[in-house]
Amino acid sequence: MTAPAASARRLVFLGPPGAGKGTQAAIVAAELGVPHLSTGDMLRAAVREGTELGKAADAHMRAGGLVPDALVLEILGERLRKPDAATGFVLDGFPRNLAQAKELARRSPLDAVLWFELPRPVLVERLTGRRVCPTCGTVYNVTSRPPRVEGRCDREGAALDQRPDDRPDAVGVRLRVYAEQTAPLLEHYRSAGLLRPLDAAGSPGDVTERLRRLLAAPPARRASQGL
Ligand SMILES: [Zn+2]
Repeated sequence: MTAPAASARRLVFLGPPGAGKGTQAAIVAAELGVPHLSTGDMLRAAVREGTELGKAADAHMRAGGLVPDALVLEILGERLRKPDAATGFVLDGFPRNLAQAKELARRSPLDAVLWFELPRPVLVERLTGRRVCPTCGTVYNVTSRPPRVEGRCDREGAALDQRPDDRPDAVGVRLRVYAEQTAPLLEHYRSAGLLRPLDAAGSPGDVTERLRRLLAAPPARRASQGL
């Protein structure tokens, strides 16, 4: 095992849907010079590279099913052993539950878990306000990023859609599932001394600035990460 880096580099970004984790993970990973790893991207990359694990994942996805946790973890383990992840990584939206967190800990130590906090009404507004152009894929938000003409894409004028996942009922379910699965995870990382709460309200630029400050601060406490 190598000595801990001067600043935290093996990071997990944890937070509810709509909190802006993906956007921030991409920015921070680029600044730190480490890979930004999301489960979906990792799976697609493994499939593209045609590894044994990728082929197995592809079979599940073609059958329309979810890729089992055990396989996702194997693919993650393989990804973490690549040279570009040697100095760190930003894991975006993984782990999602305590079982995955324990398996992750067997594969890599962590330096910090950034917990994106946002009041529920703000999350609901962000998620239910999302509109997508079916033609070019541009994502809008009725409050924070409205199109110039209501309901129409700025590029080619196509009628914007709301994804079924972003309808109010579905958003309620997504937030409830998140809360149920991640509550034990938060407690776990808090007691390990890794959890760093982040105020995820405001503009993406404001959040990036807060993240930079948090990451520059020395770890509050290095407790045992053993499980
Ligand atoms: Zn469009």
